[in-house]
Amino acid sequence: VETDADVAIVGFGPVGAVIAGLLGKRGLRVVIFDRHRGLYPLPRAAHIDHTGLRTLQELGCLDRLLPHLLLNPGTDCVTADRKLLFQIPGDVKTVSGLPASMYFHQPTFDAELRRTAAGFPSVDVQLGCEVVDAVERADGVTLTVEDAGTGRRQVTAPWVVGCDGATSVVRQLAGIETEDFGFAEQWLIFDLHLHDPPPPMPAQAIQVCDPRRPRTELPMPDNHYRFELMLMPGETADEQLGPDVAVPTILASLIPPGTFDIERTGTYTFRGVVARHFRAGRLFLAGDAAHLMPPFLGQGMNSGIRDATNLAWKLERVICDNAPQALLDTYEPERRPHVAKIIQTAVDFGRIICATDPEVAAKRDRDYLADTRPLDDRFHFRLPRLGASPLVLDGGGTLFPQPQAAPGARLDDWVGANWLVLASERSALGPAAGWWEAAGARVATVDEVPDPSGTIARWLARTGKPIAVMRPDRHVAATTSDLSEVTQRVRPLLEAAG
Ligand SMILES: Cc1cc2nc3c(=O)[nH]c(=O)nc-3n(C[C@H](O)[C@H](O)[C@H](O)COP(=O)(O)OP(=O)(O)OC[C@H]3O[C@@H](n4cnc5c(N)ncnc54)[C@H](O)[C@@H]3O)c2cc1C
Repeated sequence: VETDADVAIVGFGPVGAVIAGLLGKRGLRVVIFDRHRGLYPLPRAAHIDHTGLRTLQELGCLDRLLPHLLLNPGTDCVTADRKLLFQIPGDVKTVSGLPASMYFHQPTFDAELRRTAAGFPSVDVQLGCEVVDAVERADGVTLTVEDAGTGRRQVTAPWVVGCDGATSVVRQLAGIETEDFGFAEQWLIFDLHLHDPPPPMPAQAIQVCDPRRPRTELPMPDNHYRFELMLMPGETADEQLGPDVAVPTILASLIPPGTFDIERTGTYTFRGVVARHFRAGRLFLAGDAAHLMPPFLGQGMNSGIRDATNLAWKLERVICDNAPQALLDTYEPERRPHVAKIIQTAVDFGRIICATDPEVAAKRDRDYLADTRPLDDRFHFRLPRLGASPLVLDGGGTLFPQPQAAPGARLDDWVGANWLVLASERSALGPAAGWWEAAGARVATVDEVPDPSGTIARWLARTGKPIAVMRPDRHVAATTSDLSEVTQRVRPLLEAAG
């Protein structure tokens, strides 16, 4: 069958854009469809973490976007009368050598992601095109596309990635069920543009655990500010967002009237949901199509970007290097348990914030206020390791360290979209290094990598092993004293099939 692309992507939201860009950067022919022409109009993601920033680095748009992002000093969780219950630190050192946590203004961010993806010559963006059917054959998938301009047509590609959001048609067509975490709360979102000079608003995000109306207050760059408020029993979203209630009643108690314009509003049911499978044959799910979580940790999109980085290099290897399709089987076991743990933490956090029973809320406040641990040690969110797979061996599954460095001088840029085999000294490597070099990996000693501060050398010493192997998605595959053993285990998944 003649194919129209190496990979077809359904949905040009942030996750579709990232995977299209990562594949386009590797020279793969990508066709990406979105049913809408314009950017998603409703208020959504505002926060990106260092893992997302690291992927933007790989895409080449990080340094263009950084001036438009706002450093997050941390999130305060407070009582209705603003006593601190606990804090989630924001301005901390990260393994990626990039800021831990930053806020963005979504239209600027989404537009840059789309521009970056579309800028790769092998990426074909087709807007106003809704995918309505997918039929899998032995060697590819035929998508039926409803093109608002030209009508119905069919497009064939060997692989399809559904990045088509919460109501994913790809997920439905693939017959993939979802698992629900039993959390469902309806919230209202107000994105404001503050007049100049802006009213004094806190520089950090605040989760106000007020049982009368739990809410989130969130700074965004360029005089943008967000309130997320829980819809209370007896209220309807339409009424609360309408002109009679929104400004005079809800917002008047939060921000001085006359100091802002409402840029946009939205209403969502925050839920925790994960697809039972992330792959069915030649169809993959990524982003909200694969998982949903309450936004209190700001991790929904970031998790989707991590899906994209995990899947992109594996697709490249199978398509360009004829690696066995079993390589693609590692996507689900690595990503699904990882994201399920984050969903669970987001749901746990949501239950703390969303308590509306005054007695339950009062007990929560008493318990936290009596807690003698430091404020940032009372609620924990850490990125889990990747789930177990043949590519996550001893010492593997966490992000490989990237020392802080100037644009262009960062470790990942030096490595390129490759594997890295790093050793304390050449003599530790043994003959297996030859196979890695032939397979296109970077093979280096700690003295050869760009690491003036010695961060990587210290990290490797701490692992207690002389060799570390990094995958193209910047995760550690293994730390080892025996490269040939690791090579023997991963080689069947990387070497050309047949
Ligand atoms: C209030 C709120 C705040 C949030 N804050 C954060 C945050 O701070 N940080 C964070 O990481 N996450 C946050 N999230 C989550 C984040 O917004 C989502 O995880 C993210 O938008 C998912 O991106 P996506 O590309 O997977 O899906 P989407 O953004 O939903 O994009 C899907 C795209 O697919 C298109 N599409 C759908 N069906 C079809 C079809 N059949 N054919 C063609 N195109 C189709 C749609 O038009 C859309 O453009 C928040 C969510 C909410 C609701």
